[in-house]
Amino acid sequence: MDVDVILLGPPGAGKGTQAQRLVDAHGMRQLSTGDMLRAAVKAGTPVGVAAKAVMDRGELVSDEIVSALIGEELDALAPGQGAIFDGYPRTAAQAETLDRILADRQRTLAHVIELEVNEDALVERICGRYTCATCGKGYHDKYEQPKVPGTCDKCGGHEFKRRPDDNEDTVRTRMTEYRAKTAPILPIYEARGIVARVDGMADIEHVTAAIERIIAS
Ligand code: ADP
Ligand code: ADP
Ligand code: ZN
Repeated sequence: MDVDVILLGPPGAGKGTQAQRLVDAHGMRQLSTGDMLRAAVKAGTPVGVAAKAVMDRGELVSDEIVSALIGEELDALAPGQGAIFDGYPRTAAQAETLDRILADRQRTLAHVIELEVNEDALVERICGRYTCATCGKGYHDKYEQPKVPGTCDKCGGHEFKRRPDDNEDTVRTRMTEYRAKTAPILPIYEARGIVARVDGMADIEHVTAAIERIIAS
């Protein structure tokens, strides 16, 4: 699938879950600035050192840092491979930079898919979220458990991890950041007629089916 799409929605909306499914089904590439930043923190790079405290508070890392990360990752795509932007752009400035980054590479944004969710569900989703420590597949204590308890469906791994920022306090800050800085970028894309909305409260499978219909259109 050679289309580029943005998945937009508050923390816990299901962006990462759906991005992983598109990767598995269509060989697209997930570009998650959150994952890139967590990798930088783990590796102890200068970007990681600068980002760690900001992420622990649930605030946004600087536009310069994330835009540089996205540019590098786009350059690593295979020819004809579509990108799924997950957690980026998050501010109007990032949206503007993304336009330039894509234009420089003769790419166009096909769809901005907004996952609409009830905020009350997000704390529960985020506080129950964990991932496979080996392959990164996402799970949830209640909504997406491994088929064999303690064993990753995808890679057979037995180690799982939780994010330090997935606690109720930080989640509230992240939601406030989303409302104040990220939701306001939707009108930019609405004016271009590329926004599609999906009911993010539906079952994971139903959300995937709705997204599939949009990217096939
Ligand atoms: P985001 O990337 O938007 O922050 P995730 O995809 O990581 O969100 O989802 C947050 C948590 O909620 C994960 O544990 C995931 O398994 C679970 N989840 C995702 N989509 C749904 C859904 N439609 N219904 C119930 N739980 C979901
Ligand atoms: P979630 O999946 O819960 O929406 P992410 O993994 O996307 O969260 O982001 C985790 C943290 O990383 C954010 O709270 C923020 O500190 C930082 N971050 C991720 N992407 C961006 C971005 N595009 N701009 C600024 N900060 C970001
Ligand atoms: Zn795994």
